[in-house]
Amino acid sequence: MAKGKVYLVGSGPGDPELLTVKAKRLIENAEVIMYDQLPGKDILGMLPESAEKIDVGKYAGNHKLSQWQINELLVRRASEGKNVVRLKGGDPYLFGRGGEEAQALAAEGIEVEVVPGITSAIAVPAYAGIPVTHRDFASMVTFITGHEDPTKTDSALDWKYLARFEGTLVILMGVSQLPHNVKELVKHGKPVDTPVAIIERGTRPDQRVTVGTLGDIVGLCKQRNVKAPAITVIGDVVKLHRELAGN
Ligand code: SAH
Repeated sequence: MAKGKVYLVGSGPGDPELLTVKAKRLIENAEVIMYDQLPGKDILGMLPESAEKIDVGKYAGNHKLSQWQINELLVRRASEGKNVVRLKGGDPYLFGRGGEEAQALAAEGIEVEVVPGITSAIAVPAYAGIPVTHRDFASMVTFITGHEDPTKTDSALDWKYLARFEGTLVILMGVSQLPHNVKELVKHGKPVDTPVAIIERGTRPDQRVTVGTLGDIVGLCKQRNVKAPAITVIGDVVKLHRELAGN
């Protein structure tokens, strides 16, 4: 039997109008769709009746299938000759382990095509009136995964370097480790008055923005019960939020 193909499709940050034309076409024609909750309910509500839909449910620590099981299921369905869409929030290759899924499929000789999506790392700040770069405020930007285990001794994150970084810091998956990450930045010399914005459920109808500084953001988030999924933006570009957010 001819093997099927797997499309690793980025769904964008949640607003269905930010799906690419290609993503929409592939979703509409898929025989199998494997997804988690990150694309959000508006996009998940568009999945066609006709497709086999599998919620692999890797959401905020509440794993339904392990990464290994997801890889195995992708391989199995493609080996059955099916056209499979693996729908992933934002862009498939920015965090979220899309690269690993592609590797697992390639190792089994299964054809994979990546369909880039609009990443939440840029679009979510944009919808909150924050350009991640701006000639007056930041000529560089870096994307950071925030949920590293702080007890890990060989952290991939060099906080000393990040505290000195002159550009915008955008942290994904950063809600649970926010107190630790803020402490590291301040400890290594990042000024406590550096502006910070945290945007929950960006681009969705219930988007919420919390603005503060490194000095007070942890308290504000606690007060407002800030929850994942959220993007944290640290740097002077946050000052543009008032002017550009239209609220
Ligand atoms: N590949 C995705 C990121 C996967 S990591 C992308 O390119 O967007 C998961 C993290 O993405 C979440 O913890 C959160 O930090 C961020 N995220 C994704 N969609 C979001 C949204 N609509 N609002 C806020 N954060 C979002």
